[in-house]
Amino acid sequence: MDHVFTLGTERHNLRMKAMDIVEIDQTLDEWHEEMKALRRDLHSHPELAFEEHRTSSLIKDKLEQWHIEVADGIALTGVVGIIRGRQTGARAIGLRADMDALPLKEENTFAHASVHANKMHGCGHDGHVLMLLAAARFLALHNDFCGTVYVIFQPAEESGGGAQKMMAEGLFDRFPMDAVFGMHNWPGLPLGHFGIKPGPIMASTNSFHITVKGKGAHAAMPQLSNDPVVAIAQLALALQTVVSRNLNPVSSAVLSITQMNVGSAHNVIPAAGTLVGSVRTLAVDVLDLIEKRVKELSLTIAEAFGCEAQVNFVRNDPPTINHDEEAEFCLQVLKSSFGENEIHTDIEPSMAAEDFSWMLLKKPGCYIWIGNGALTQPGSGHGTMSCALHNSHYDFNDQLIKVGARYWVRLALAKLPNQ
Ligand SMILES: [Zn+2]
Ligand SMILES: [Zn+2]
Repeated sequence: MDHVFTLGTERHNLRMKAMDIVEIDQTLDEWHEEMKALRRDLHSHPELAFEEHRTSSLIKDKLEQWHIEVADGIALTGVVGIIRGRQTGARAIGLRADMDALPLKEENTFAHASVHANKMHGCGHDGHVLMLLAAARFLALHNDFCGTVYVIFQPAEESGGGAQKMMAEGLFDRFPMDAVFGMHNWPGLPLGHFGIKPGPIMASTNSFHITVKGKGAHAAMPQLSNDPVVAIAQLALALQTVVSRNLNPVSSAVLSITQMNVGSAHNVIPAAGTLVGSVRTLAVDVLDLIEKRVKELSLTIAEAFGCEAQVNFVRNDPPTINHDEEAEFCLQVLKSSFGENEIHTDIEPSMAAEDFSWMLLKKPGCYIWIGNGALTQPGSGHGTMSCALHNSHYDFNDQLIKVGARYWVRLALAKLPNQ
């Protein structure tokens, strides 16, 4: 039976065969034990941002073993695999997986727990690598498509700006692509289900560091001081009004003050102190407003207490905003590849951030979530239960390797149909 769907213009008419799925799954099933072993090998050897040398060479070796052309050393440890379709064509897409681990002490005791102290694949990037490797292997063997698929293995998603660094080193110039796609496992979403939405799906992440300088004095002689403690305390409260009083209530944002550092003795009014915090938004105009208000409140409140403020507002990653047309395309790929009840379009965006956002500023694309199962602490055994990302008991569920790979393969075949 053929599933036919039409998206917008004629060029998007797609014909996807149910038979494809059986064929894809049979092959992925045959490879499952091998892929699972590789995933667990990566899990037990986690590497931090830009230090993913072992991971990177494992990816390179496997791609080459499967006769896939490889470009490596992009942003130090980044790897791109180039899979050409049987039919040559100018069209191309990028499929991206991140590959770094977290500076976190793993508390799992299973056989594939981290062998490195204070390094852990606590975000499932080991699984992301394997979902994409399995898809790359399949697409290289069954390259019945027109154009090129670039499989992008990116370093330093958790910190360090791996996506930006790959782009700065010519990712989209060396490998010109029409669109780019991402996927993250998501504990709390049922195992093997998908979450997808157009527009914002992850927040921007930003920090501010405010220094308030006053005049120190003896604690018994406040009249000789310009007390930064009082200014900082007032400012901490005033900053709480930015989200509640300045933002349109239907906008989403978080402003959290996470550090107040001032003073060192009970009988000394200090000369200066700092206030540090984090801001998350789903839209850039909301971020613009928050940055403006943080600066205004800091300068004026400090001045009101005879102090001076310096504000360093740092924008890290922008919000991850899916492009409408690509999100609709991916939704249709999911609907033609999985059961209707396995696809969740009513998800709410997360206020966590993702540096794939930088790629979506340059190229159309879509980032989705794949369910890693119920959000519970693991019991005995492993790989069958799930807990939150960045939790010291987290583990990627190996069953997702073939589910995620099926999505990647179906997406590539749908996006690059034969002419
Ligand atoms: Zn993470
Ligand atoms: Zn992650």
